[in-house]
Amino acid sequence: MFAGAAGGVTGSCYHLTFDGASLVIDCGTFQGGRIADELNQRPFPFDPAQVTAVVLTHGHLDHAGRVPLLGDLGFEGPVWGHAATLDIAMLIMEDTAKLAAHSDGPPLYERGAVERTRERLKRHPGYGKRQQIGPFTVELFDAGHILGSSHVRVSWDDGGERAILFSGDIGVVGSPIIKDPTSQWSPENAVDYVVTESTYGNRNHPDRAAARETFKDVIQHAILDGGKVLVPAFAIGRTQEILFELDQMIQSGEVGRIPVVVDGPLSMKATDVYRRHKGCYDEDAHEQLARGDHPLDMDSFMGATDGRQSSRVSDLRGPAIIIAGSGMCSGGRIRRHLAENLHDPKTDVVLVGYQGARTLGRALEDGAEEVWIDNRQIPVRARITRISGFSAHADQDGLASWHGALARKPGATTFVTHGEDEARDVYARLLRDRFDARTAIPQLDDVVTLS
Ligand SMILES: [Zn+2]
Repeated sequence: MFAGAAGGVTGSCYHLTFDGASLVIDCGTFQGGRIADELNQRPFPFDPAQVTAVVLTHGHLDHAGRVPLLGDLGFEGPVWGHAATLDIAMLIMEDTAKLAAHSDGPPLYERGAVERTRERLKRHPGYGKRQQIGPFTVELFDAGHILGSSHVRVSWDDGGERAILFSGDIGVVGSPIIKDPTSQWSPENAVDYVVTESTYGNRNHPDRAAARETFKDVIQHAILDGGKVLVPAFAIGRTQEILFELDQMIQSGEVGRIPVVVDGPLSMKATDVYRRHKGCYDEDAHEQLARGDHPLDMDSFMGATDGRQSSRVSDLRGPAIIIAGSGMCSGGRIRRHLAENLHDPKTDVVLVGYQGARTLGRALEDGAEEVWIDNRQIPVRARITRISGFSAHADQDGLASWHGALARKPGATTFVTHGEDEARDVYARLLRDRFDARTAIPQLDDVVTLS
């Protein structure tokens, strides 16, 4: 059953049943306005008490944010994931328990629900390894999206092996710090079904070098006019990649020295998790480590974890780069920085991630002349720059080459999810034309029999 991320990019959740057992693959939070609030609060379209286990593709909010709700509703099984995924998912769940589900409501769940989830966490043995969970064999492959991110292959014996691969979010080849998405698939990993994300199924990113140039221009401009550069970024993944890029630019002298502030306890904790899990690093990051230079340490860096430190960030006179969540400006400290600085033409806002429909980030991206932030109407005089080359999601070409490399059994079906409808349509057509693939575009709560 497709219980989330069908017709949008948030709320990922799949329910797979076989022989009286069932797995939930991801259980993420819906984001973006009142509709998302309603979807988060509605009952699950399956009985959580009957679920054998949860398996997480990665720790982002839209993939792991609702896991504690399952426990509140009777789920008593384990929650499996890559070790780094579990560390990140815990940060996300702790954060969700602190924040109101919507502006005037209580959090989606209490801190106690998060602690009960912590006791259920089980480390999957890792990439390329198999774990038996009830009648299912679950194998993880590096997805190259954020630390610990995985493609999840689930197989079961139904008078012969049947297998389905959940892509999770697919990363970008050449991203810093972490390894690239898996591109070598052996025939023994062939699958009957693929569930693929399609966030950027209808467009391509400019390359990373071009993205760096644009970012550099914005920073130089800020150094000259003394303005602030606000970078809304997912606390996990994007923040660390942006830090890495800034460190490289400042160290090499490509841009002048400028204070870099990460505002938010979640971003700071996530950066620590990134520092710890060196086993997930790519070759370049390992080489840098070997030279005694940690890829996530920089001189002009300052972190703000508590509210007092955050107020000091507000008092900073520019120029400064402020990185804060959330990535789509739908919550978090970035909203305050936007409220305080959007009216100022010296301010730059750099949108480095995908901006979902009905979010503040999308309004800025679409050129809104004024926006509402926490019941205040704010004129937008800041310069808004979208840089999609830093995306943590593969673009159309990346998705297609990922799909092309997969080992698929004859007649395999690909379900195109985790994209807005236009992206899904365009990408499904491409899969049919280029790979002669059988495709399906499921709607929310659709049930499909895999036979
Ligand atoms: Zn993600």
